[in-house]
Amino acid sequence: LTILGLESSCDDTAAAVVRQPEGARPEILSSVVFGQTELHSAFGGVVPEIAARAHAEKLDICVRDALADSGLALKDMDAVAVTAGPGLIGGVMSGVMCAKGIAAATGLPLVGVNHLAGHALTPRLTDGTAYPYLMLLVSGGHCQYLLVRGPEDFTRLGGTIDDAPGEAFDKTARLLGLPQPGGPAVQAEAESGDPERFRFPRPLLDRPDCNLSFSGLKTALMRMRDQIAAEKGGLTRQDRADLCAGFQAAVVDTLAEKTRRAIRLYLEEQPARPTVAVAGGVAANTAIRTALEIVCAEAGAAFTAPPLRLCTDNAAMIAYAGLERFKSGARDELDLTARPRWPLDQSSPALIGSGR
Ligand code: ATP
Ligand code: FE
Repeated sequence: LTILGLESSCDDTAAAVVRQPEGARPEILSSVVFGQTELHSAFGGVVPEIAARAHAEKLDICVRDALADSGLALKDMDAVAVTAGPGLIGGVMSGVMCAKGIAAATGLPLVGVNHLAGHALTPRLTDGTAYPYLMLLVSGGHCQYLLVRGPEDFTRLGGTIDDAPGEAFDKTARLLGLPQPGGPAVQAEAESGDPERFRFPRPLLDRPDCNLSFSGLKTALMRMRDQIAAEKGGLTRQDRADLCAGFQAAVVDTLAEKTRRAIRLYLEEQPARPTVAVAGGVAANTAIRTALEIVCAEAGAAFTAPPLRLCTDNAAMIAYAGLERFKSGARDELDLTARPRWPLDQSSPALIGSGR
């Protein structure tokens, strides 16, 4: 099967071609990503209207380039897959309209994909991870532990009750005058910082579940920053690096401890050696990857993390998730709608906790 995938749910416009021959591993034939970072940089965050216009402008070029890079044409595709949510609605609509246009013009089947399923199935694309597995999805807008049993079978074991870690990294960068997206900037600063100098809170560690909270980190950071500024009139480079290191250490510790608990909860459902996979933009963080690797080794679990360029938004993951849906017989019609909100486990009765 050969699938064309489109992604436009946030600030990356992307198209990709993924092929999986019968009985073989999937292969990424092409993956084109147009980032919009510079369009939004003056505003300190993604501006939905600007994002939607840029997607509408770039999608056809992305598709053309992805096909060219793959050496194939539309007639060689078996289906077109597109992110149908969740995300910024204008962007999602641009992608869905583009995919519908292709489907209507060529007669190719259309497959709508949940963006989060794209992230959550990435370890199957990159490592051939078998079902079931425990997924820690950590991105710009989401943070959840999922028991993944199939392409549309996700059970949420826990997750954040407020901010996502990516959001916390981005806010931290903004508060310290670092560029967006904040994750890579804060990670780079943290490398030359002392994680012990500032003690950030580790929320919810007193609870036995695997729910998380990150909004308190922002408040703590503002307090510390303002206190230094009041004492010394401003932040030095070292102050900033130490604040980043302290912040990152709190995120790392919290994710490590909650992952231990998630493994325990997972084992209650699936009593076999678990595979823990991590995905989403924050999974690009090396300190987080290293900590999770150690937690898994201690718990006797296998650990897998996609290469960095497949952690952040891309269309290869959408093409692959579409391929899995398509293989299981799923098809969408031209009345497919864009959904701003679309929880992964909407149909799951085992919803534990609240939040995203
Ligand atoms: P979602 O997938 O939840 O809809 P999104 O698509 O915006 O959100 P991703 O592209 O998966 O999110 O991830 C982007 C987020 O990842 C940003 O918040 C960014 O700061 C964060 N991020 C990227 N690299 C790193 C890093 N090295 N360390 C920490 N965070 C990072
Ligand atoms: Fe994403």
